[in-house]
Amino acid sequence: MSKRVYIAHTGGTIGMKNAGEGYAPAPGFLEARLREMPELRDAAMPEFVLREYDPLLDSSNMTPREWLLIAQDIFENYDAFDGFCILHGTDTMAYTASALPFLLQGLNKPVILTGSQIPLVELRNDARENIITALMLAATYPLPEVCLYFGDKLLRGCRTVKVNATGFDAFDSPNYPPLGQVGIEIQINWNAVRAAPSTPMKPLPRELNATVGALRLFPGISARLLDNVLQPPLQGLVLEAYGAGNAPDRDDALLEVLARATARGVVIVNCTQCLRGAVNLHAYATGAALLQAGLVSGRDMTPIAALAKLHYLFGSGYAPAQVRALMQQNLCGEMTV
Ligand code: ASP
Repeated sequence: MSKRVYIAHTGGTIGMKNAGEGYAPAPGFLEARLREMPELRDAAMPEFVLREYDPLLDSSNMTPREWLLIAQDIFENYDAFDGFCILHGTDTMAYTASALPFLLQGLNKPVILTGSQIPLVELRNDARENIITALMLAATYPLPEVCLYFGDKLLRGCRTVKVNATGFDAFDSPNYPPLGQVGIEIQINWNAVRAAPSTPMKPLPRELNATVGALRLFPGISARLLDNVLQPPLQGLVLEAYGAGNAPDRDDALLEVLARATARGVVIVNCTQCLRGAVNLHAYATGAALLQAGLVSGRDMTPIAALAKLHYLFGSGYAPAQVRALMQQNLCGEMTV
């Protein structure tokens, strides 16, 4: 019996058409094009059901609410399909790919996000290959995790970043090896793939509406700016610090602002601005000062995954002390322990 894949079409360049004012999502358009493709009727391809979201979004318009809607969609269709394919804009695909693994803990089927830099409708495009391979991956490989397939790489979702605004190699997971490489053959790096879970899927949070944010340190940042960002009702902040997690320790006012916020219960997670490597708050005095101010280390998590994790944990109703503890634990492969 042929495998069945559920395609959730959320929007993005992959299904856009140019209606005169630049590319924009077009309802019904992508499904019609896919149904015309003889490749998708090949015996090697799975059957698919496509659900088009309304409205179709340029992913720049996505919010945590849409992350939860996608997770609910997968949750509701989980038993009826062998795998899931999420068609998504590339701009915030890494955010959705980072949020879904927290929401779908206990997942034991492949969820593959993909999209394209050029729409399927164009003669020269990367959409065709991305869709065909993503469907094959979702149907035939026992990948018990949320992945992002793009270009020739299969990546762990919660480790991804968009690294190229124009090239076909738009995504990477700089701190984690690819889960697979696609060339003449599809090669899965099974050593890097998560083990199948031993527990069933967890219930989803009812809402994802925490007040959290992210701020990248820059030379000359003022205590006042930071203080404004940290004002209530902020619950959590990803502070993208320098190198191994360092910040200016000669600015007492800045450290004071951070310490006051953590004392109020704001969870401030220190991630590195670097693409590779990890935070080590014991390496330099400039890092130790942040530890004293109450920040928690995000280790080698991407700032994107840290933001998604804060949303998930606060959205699940954890108290700040629990959020602090869980931010430092690996929940779904987002950090190296
Ligand atoms: N702006 C588009 C989006 O993210 C870009 C793309 O899909 O490549 O939806």
